[in-house]
Amino acid sequence: MKIIQRSALIVVCAILECTAAQAATPAIPDAVLKVAKAQITPDALRAPIRFLASDELEGRGPATRGDALARLYLASQLESLGFQPGGENGSYEQTVDVVGVTAKLPTTWDFTGKGGDISLKWSDDYIAGSGVQEPTAEIKDAPLVFVGYGIEAPEYKWDDFKGVDVRGKVLVMLNNDPDWDPKLFAGNTRLYYGRWTYKYESAARHGAAGVIIVHTTPSAGYPWQVVQSSWGGEQFELPAEGEPRIQLKAWATEDAARRLVKAGGADLGKLVEAAKKRSFKPVPLNLRTSIRFENTVSRVRTANVAGVLPGSDPKLKDEVVIYSAHHDHFGIGPPLKEGDKTGDNIYNGAEDNAAGCAQLLAIARAMAALPERPRRSVMMLFVAGEEQGLLGSKYFSLHPTYAPGKIAANINYDGGNYRGRTKDLTQIGAGKSSLDAIAKALVEAQGRVLVPDQFPDKGYYYRSDQFSFAKIGVPALYFDNGYDYIGKPQGWGKHEHEEWTEHVYHQPSDELTDEWVFDGMIEDAMIGFGAGWLVAQADAMPTWNPGDEFEAARKKAIAAN
Ligand SMILES: [Zn+2]
Repeated sequence: MKIIQRSALIVVCAILECTAAQAATPAIPDAVLKVAKAQITPDALRAPIRFLASDELEGRGPATRGDALARLYLASQLESLGFQPGGENGSYEQTVDVVGVTAKLPTTWDFTGKGGDISLKWSDDYIAGSGVQEPTAEIKDAPLVFVGYGIEAPEYKWDDFKGVDVRGKVLVMLNNDPDWDPKLFAGNTRLYYGRWTYKYESAARHGAAGVIIVHTTPSAGYPWQVVQSSWGGEQFELPAEGEPRIQLKAWATEDAARRLVKAGGADLGKLVEAAKKRSFKPVPLNLRTSIRFENTVSRVRTANVAGVLPGSDPKLKDEVVIYSAHHDHFGIGPPLKEGDKTGDNIYNGAEDNAAGCAQLLAIARAMAALPERPRRSVMMLFVAGEEQGLLGSKYFSLHPTYAPGKIAANINYDGGNYRGRTKDLTQIGAGKSSLDAIAKALVEAQGRVLVPDQFPDKGYYYRSDQFSFAKIGVPALYFDNGYDYIGKPQGWGKHEHEEWTEHVYHQPSDELTDEWVFDGMIEDAMIGFGAGWLVAQADAMPTWNPGDEFEAARKKAIAAN
């Protein structure tokens, strides 16, 4: 790795294969870095975390008093820094309604087949949620069709539907995306096509009645128990807005799927093989099914918080760099875990994500303190309902306050490093856009190394709020902590992370303590500040790498400008 440490001057293009246009990328002047460093301090980071993660905010569960207090705090901080209201109707808030649906699925789900009738047992064989926000969901005597991966990806010349009419049918789909060829769907990196959310959306676009995703542990990245626990209770969504919807979102175990397909006179192994070819066409299964179930539907209200620092360039100020961090967490819940005798039931969410909010506020302070404002506008967006499924950022992406083609980039913070400085920084979703080069140059200027995600098959890029921006075509940056801590033995970071996942992550113990140190978080926040500043100053907006899964959405958004 080449390291640039020419004082604080970062010449992005020096380490890139730059085109003539990119060669004009401006450097970050010393004066700008000096201002940012004076603002992004341990105190500036610790104070918001102390407030947001305090017991008084009761874990910031959506639509609670703690949620309202957190939003008021964030909005008033932005106001005090000179950020203008970036929400609706001249306020700092954008209202987000959240719908909760609890489906009461039948204990057995019956199918009639050419090779005999078959029933799948709830939980053992199948798990499902409602696709509609109505008191009743129903599928009436629908035929089943195997549609392979259920993917349509023009950039890979891949279409599992081949124009076949699947309206009103129940689609049986394989999980993940093709992963056996590095040239197809980025090899073993899970793209959005490989996520279950894509599968259900894809079926809805085609007017299908329902979907059964075939679960295998390798293709999901987690065992069947995770499907059971995450789909068992209330599911949260944005309110329906007339978009196409399927009635039923189901999963089946591989064994149940094998028996089901066999009852239709087919062989799952052969279908899986057939699905691996581009020439695959949907296969009717000689199976029919009916299912009807009741839903309990609830609705609560929360909000995103947004503030804008208008750009200084008369033309470019219509474009915006959006920083995002979710402000919500789980509120008050059951005391966890075995062995916890404190009875603590407040999910403070200090790391997740008071730390992300604090980094945004510190970056906001730095932007506001600059003697000259960046050319493009800068938005700080604190989104709601991330823990319920990226709901706040999804709502913003569907109702953006800037046209998607005018959003230059998104930089998302979910979590923060409180263990000290690291030699590395992990980039989730590396290899997708021109933002990589900026990130690499900034990280190397700190004498650190930018490393790609260690678990590309898990699809982390699609599991925090930057994904909502990518989906509408906005190039997005998202980092995870480094693991190689300065002054700590080899493996210490990984061990600490594993301990944290086991004992802290999404538990009442995610709290601010005196052991937290901020020198590592400062460096990570400086990367975000620098990336946003460079994007805001550049003549041209960042671009997806050619052939990226989100390039088509960007082209559409730019064409609409
Ligand atoms: Zn989070």
